[in-house]
Amino acid sequence: MSRQRVFIGDLTRKEFRDKIENGTIKAAIVPTAATEQHLEHLEMIHDTASVTYMAEQAALKLYPDVVAATTIPIGVSEHWMKHKGTLTVRAEIFTEYVYDVCDALKRGGVENILILNGHGGNVRPMMSRMETFKKQLGINVRFNSYWDTYPTDVVYQYMEKERLPGHADEYETSMALALFPHRVHADDMEQESSSKYGTKEKGEALAAVAVNGVAELLRKMIAGEEIDLEPRTFGPDGAVSMVRDHLIEGKR
Ligand SMILES: [Zn+2]
Repeated sequence: MSRQRVFIGDLTRKEFRDKIENGTIKAAIVPTAATEQHLEHLEMIHDTASVTYMAEQAALKLYPDVVAATTIPIGVSEHWMKHKGTLTVRAEIFTEYVYDVCDALKRGGVENILILNGHGGNVRPMMSRMETFKKQLGINVRFNSYWDTYPTDVVYQYMEKERLPGHADEYETSMALALFPHRVHADDMEQESSSKYGTKEKGEALAAVAVNGVAELLRKMIAGEEIDLEPRTFGPDGAVSMVRDHLIEGKR
């Protein structure tokens, strides 16, 4: 098979060893996600599927310099446990697990690691630990969600409800329609939610911008450039803080 393989799990140990020893691999992505309710119409794997897509596509853009770890599929989703089927782990378990995956990559010779997140509930737990993790690992490691890379004007150009990422509404429904339409159960869409504003076209456009943004972030990490990119979400009144968005999210 001639397909370019970027997930570490798709490489043999010989292939990984050769690529690290001859300096081919310059960075790795650790995708972090969730398996949690996404209203009535999106499948609970949404965040895992979307961040896995972002990791693969960004790594392909920089092929063969970047590889991706297997996506961590269950995150911190305690705030959705009232919806049966949601899976969650305690924040301290989650963050330590992510740390150990980064440590394994470091021990394998990786010097730049982007923890690429696809679930809002993981942001605060991870951000509270990143300074310590950076010190303990002693390599170039950072945490960002893929939506952090969106230029503000692009978000407001596409999002009619001016919210991103939101939860299973306009943005995530658009992404699902573009990336994995078989996971959208349109008949079960709640009419009062902004999910109905989701379109395949918005999803395709915004997915492409995010892939480019993540690839650019990795390129800067590899080049050792200074990066100023704080975790953020976008709301109707401009970019809002992750804390505020989390509170909004918890209502639905
Ligand atoms: Zn989601």
